[in-house]
Amino acid sequence: MALLQISEPGMSPEPHQRKLAVGIDLGTTNSLVAAVRSSVPEVLEDEHRHALLPSVVSYGDDGRITVGAEAAARAVSDPDNTIVSVKRFMGRGLEDAKRYRSAYRFIDSPGMVRISTRAGDKSPVEISAEILRTLRRRAEMALGDELFGAVITVPAYFDDAQRQATKDAARLAGLEVLRLLNEPTAAAIAYGLDSGAEGTFLVYDLGGGTFDVSVLQLMRGVFEVIATGGDSALGGDDFDRRIVEWALRETGLVAEDQPDPIGAALADGVLSAGDLRAMNIEARRAKESLSEAAITTFAARLSSASVVRLPLTRERFDAISADLVARTLTVVRKVLRDAKLSAADTGQIVMVGGATRIPAVRVAVTQLFGRAPLIDIDPDRVVAIGAAMQANLLAGNRPAGDDWLLLDVIPLSLGLETMGGLVEKIIPRNSTIPVARAQEFTTFRDGQTALAIHVVQGERELVADCRSLARFELRGIPPMSAGAARVRVSFQVDADGLLSVSACEQVSGVKSSVAVRPSYGLGDDEIAAMLQSSFAAAQEDRDARALREQQVEADRLLEATRNALADDGDLLVERERAELEALLLKTQQARGAADPASIRHAVEALALGTETFAARRMDRAIGRALSGRRLDEIGD
Ligand code: ADP
Ligand code: MG
Repeated sequence: MALLQISEPGMSPEPHQRKLAVGIDLGTTNSLVAAVRSSVPEVLEDEHRHALLPSVVSYGDDGRITVGAEAAARAVSDPDNTIVSVKRFMGRGLEDAKRYRSAYRFIDSPGMVRISTRAGDKSPVEISAEILRTLRRRAEMALGDELFGAVITVPAYFDDAQRQATKDAARLAGLEVLRLLNEPTAAAIAYGLDSGAEGTFLVYDLGGGTFDVSVLQLMRGVFEVIATGGDSALGGDDFDRRIVEWALRETGLVAEDQPDPIGAALADGVLSAGDLRAMNIEARRAKESLSEAAITTFAARLSSASVVRLPLTRERFDAISADLVARTLTVVRKVLRDAKLSAADTGQIVMVGGATRIPAVRVAVTQLFGRAPLIDIDPDRVVAIGAAMQANLLAGNRPAGDDWLLLDVIPLSLGLETMGGLVEKIIPRNSTIPVARAQEFTTFRDGQTALAIHVVQGERELVADCRSLARFELRGIPPMSAGAARVRVSFQVDADGLLSVSACEQVSGVKSSVAVRPSYGLGDDEIAAMLQSSFAAAQEDRDARALREQQVEADRLLEATRNALADDGDLLVERERAELEALLLKTQQARGAADPASIRHAVEALALGTETFAARRMDRAIGRALSGRRLDEIGD
């Protein structure tokens, strides 16, 4: 890949205005959002101080969509409408999706599978957008303003359809994608392997359900992925399953020599689906605690009221999961072979993914490479942190003198005018260059012998709203009936951002072409303005923000009033208390119904309704403060 200097049109820094840009790790199991604040990258937490958002979306029977831990809790009670690991289905057709043996009601649809839920058929893009929207709101709450854009990470092996699907999800969530960044590259950036460091290094990423290995080469500031490998069905979940299997054998619930203890226990009715879930949750907890402690107690209550209670040592855990660790090493060796690299010649080893906290994993990797991997940055957070650093840079917040080199991207989509003044995008915004794409078009009228080709740049759907870059004609098409000609139009952007467009009628072989310089065709302000106008979701975003603010206010008042009632409820007579309870209930209900205006009314009514109560509490507090003090002390 060519070495290119950064030139991000439309993203030049404004002197005193920092643009808020975040990095998002959209994971299979967990997702995170991070930002650089006062020069320090940090992962942003939700109101309960949780950084990891489980990548789970649930479509509730009350019409509510929940995301994260709350949704994960519904995975068993409402599996059809609760989607986990949606990342596996991004940009994938029915056949691919089915390979994951997931129980969803899949619907075949062109391009990408859809999942049938009570809220209608959902595409993986829409489901992922819910996760991204949640993270975007979290970031806007934490940072106190609207976001300028986001860098979203994707696995290095993601193909164009999967990347495009990720970008579409972001757009749906009202996020401007500054760039899609490979997960291993993000991890390398977090470790500062971009500045100064040269050579190859390996990223070992063991997540919840997937294992990815990438070898990156860094030369003069440009990352190149030179080999990738992995196992899309190997991750922390498998370690959990080993613990459950062990517990079933150990307690004698299934025979010692049963090859599939979980399947057998479910088939025999020894375990219900709920029991299995309880055991899985406990296994995960036990596994995670064994990363710190040498022993833990595995304890799960079954629906039969019997309790499974067993001590589990780290040694035992290592033994029952040793083959899983060995499998990861086999993959690593293969990737090293593909990269024509020996373990000894590999530079730094970067550990990514929550499951790399397992001590046996670290030991095995250390042994293979003969030196310790990098683990200083929390392995669940390292990808989000690297993405945040990259986002900060792309937003133009880089300090003077910091001249990172990065591969360039296309700032705005390139496309063609089609009938009705509509734009057909050929190369989407943010594609890294060099890039080439082709698409076929046809004639509109019978006997049409020429085709006017109009090249445009922009994000909008109408030609009138986009920028015209070039026009040329393809002449000499033999007369055919409308729709019979097959004109293949190819767009090619070279490493310098030079666009050339060529058209060729496939049947007759007639050709024509033109060269354009897209990057320099538009000024920074123009690009910014075009992006601004494409923020279709802006109003919706503002509404969501207003709602969230009202909800926070309602929560605050609800809690304060409940605490006051608990402390000083005796200050109210029966009737007053009942009135206050009614107001509390109303506010609670309004908070649940997603309408900012009705929440505001309820909050105002509650505030008014508590005035007398507040006055009495004040009197009591003053009374307490004054009692026991002499009159001459008061007023000092
Ligand atoms: P993904 O990249 O697939 O979204 P993560 O990187 O968040 O996933 O990894 C999730 C996995 O990491 C889970 O299986 C979880 O149990 C595991 N994990 C998290 N913390 C620990 C820990 N302290 N010890 C062992 N495993 C852990
Ligand atoms: Mg991950």
